[in-house]
Amino acid sequence: MTAMIIDGKKIAAQLREDMKARLSGRPAKDRPGLAVVLVGDDPASAVYVRQKEKACLETGINSFIRRLPEDTGQDELLALIEGLNRSEEVHGILVQLPLPDGIDTKRIVSAIIPEKDADGFHPVNVGRLWSGESVVEPCTPKGIMTLIDSTGVELKGLEAVVIGRSNIVGKPAAAMLLARHCTVTVCHSRTEDLPDVVRRGDIVVAAIGRPNFVTGDMIKPGAVVIDVGINRADGRLVGDVEFESALRKAAFITPVPGGVGPMTIASLLRNTLRLAGV
Ligand code: NAD
Repeated sequence: MTAMIIDGKKIAAQLREDMKARLSGRPAKDRPGLAVVLVGDDPASAVYVRQKEKACLETGINSFIRRLPEDTGQDELLALIEGLNRSEEVHGILVQLPLPDGIDTKRIVSAIIPEKDADGFHPVNVGRLWSGESVVEPCTPKGIMTLIDSTGVELKGLEAVVIGRSNIVGKPAAAMLLARHCTVTVCHSRTEDLPDVVRRGDIVVAAIGRPNFVTGDMIKPGAVVIDVGINRADGRLVGDVEFESALRKAAFITPVPGGVGPMTIASLLRNTLRLAGV
C-alpha cells in the first residue's frame, strides 16, 4: 500500500482564496482586524509574525503589528493589550510566544478578552473547547482537523492516538477528536509501550518535536497519519514521522514541509473572520 499524500499547501491556499473572495470589495474600515504583539528579538518569532502580517494583507484583513523591545515590562504589555481589547478596529489579538523571561505568559494570555482571543489559548476558550462550545479553536489543531476531514474518512468510533500533550497542539487536538466521537488516547514522554499504543490508531497525530520518531512499524495499515513535527535534521526539515516507512502503511499521510505547517496560518485567518462575525 502507498498512502495518499494530503496536500496541506493546496488546502490552505484554497481556504485563503475563499476568505479573500468573501472580503473583497469591503472598504478598509469594514474589514476584520488582527493585532499581533511581538516582544523581543527572537528570530523565529520575527519570521512567524512577518508571515502572519503578509497572510492578513493578502487576504484583506487589517493587520496591526506591535513590536516591543526585549526589556518591555509586564505592566506595559498589559496596558497595550488593554488598549487592543478596547479598540473597535481590532477583532483578534495574538501575542507571539515565547515571551521573554520575566513576563508571566499565563497572565498575558489571560489578559486578552476571550472574544478577541485569535489563538484560542485563553483559559475560558480552553474550557469552551473541552465542553463543546468553542468559538475559536487553537490554530494548529484546527488545521489538523481540516486535513483529516479532507480525506473524507468518517471519524465516528475510530481510535485516535495523539502523541504529545502540549497545550498548543496535543491536548486541543485530543479535545477536537473527542468532540468528533473518536476514542482518543494521548501519549507522552512517560507512556509505556508507546509503539503498541500507536499501533491501535486509525488516526495518528504526531506532535512530539523529535525527528522520525514514529516509524512505519508503529502504523496500523490504512491509518490517517498527521505529522505536526518540524525538526531540522541534516540541514533539512523533517517531521516526527519517518515518512518513507509510514507511507507504505498508511492510507493518508501529511508531508513535512507542506502538510500541517501551512494550515496553521490559514486557521488563524479563519479565527479572525469568525471573531469579526464575518
Ligand atoms: P512540546 O515540546 O510542547 O511538546 C512535545 C510533547 O511531546 C510533550 O507533550 C512530550 O510529552 C511529548 N514527548 C516528548 N518526547 C517524547 C517521547 N520520547 N515519547 C513520547 N512523547 C514525547 O511541543 P509542541 O509545541 O506540541 O510541538 C510539537 C512539534 O510540533 C514540534 O516539532 C513543533 O515544532 C511542531 N509544531 C508545528 C506547528 C505547525 O504549525 N506545523 C505548530 C506547533 C508545533
